[in-house]
Amino acid sequence: MDERSRTYGSISSTGMSADGAAPRAVDPEISRRMRRIQAKNTSPEVTTRRILHSSGFRFRLHRRDLPGTPDIVLPRLRVAVFVNGCFWHQHSGCRLARPPKANPGYWVPKFQRIAARDRTAADRLESLGWHVLVVWECETRRPDQLSARLSRCLYALSKERSRKDRGQQ
Ligand SMILES: [Zn+2]
Repeated sequence: MDERSRTYGSISSTGMSADGAAPRAVDPEISRRMRRIQAKNTSPEVTTRRILHSSGFRFRLHRRDLPGTPDIVLPRLRVAVFVNGCFWHQHSGCRLARPPKANPGYWVPKFQRIAARDRTAADRLESLGWHVLVVWECETRRPDQLSARLSRCLYALSKERSRKDRGQQ
């Protein structure tokens, strides 16, 4: 376990999330699930980076000057990648995203705030001419499939970009 996983582990063991206060009584089942989810939080991004790198794509990390601080940025293709945890970002239809049954008054508004923030960031990036790509945590568990999807997507964008570049000359 690396330093960051340990930190996440200790945060989640109190039932607290990264950006809010926890409800007072935390169901042991929930805290067990949160711990499992959060302990793996670092690896989806690392997996995504590894895939991009091995496919020959060049990128930068955590561009704070861009809306929503995308996790990975491919500057030449103007692609902003967000690697989203399925639980926090409520990946639709995903089994990792099942909301806890207890404390809906706490979770529902929290998920809504996160979703609203995601939408705002994507809208602002797109209005600045960026393509927004979301990679879900569950996809990173099947790296071969994710790699194929990313390559398809990025090669298409790279073709589009070279067409545009030629058009401008
Ligand atoms: Zn998912």
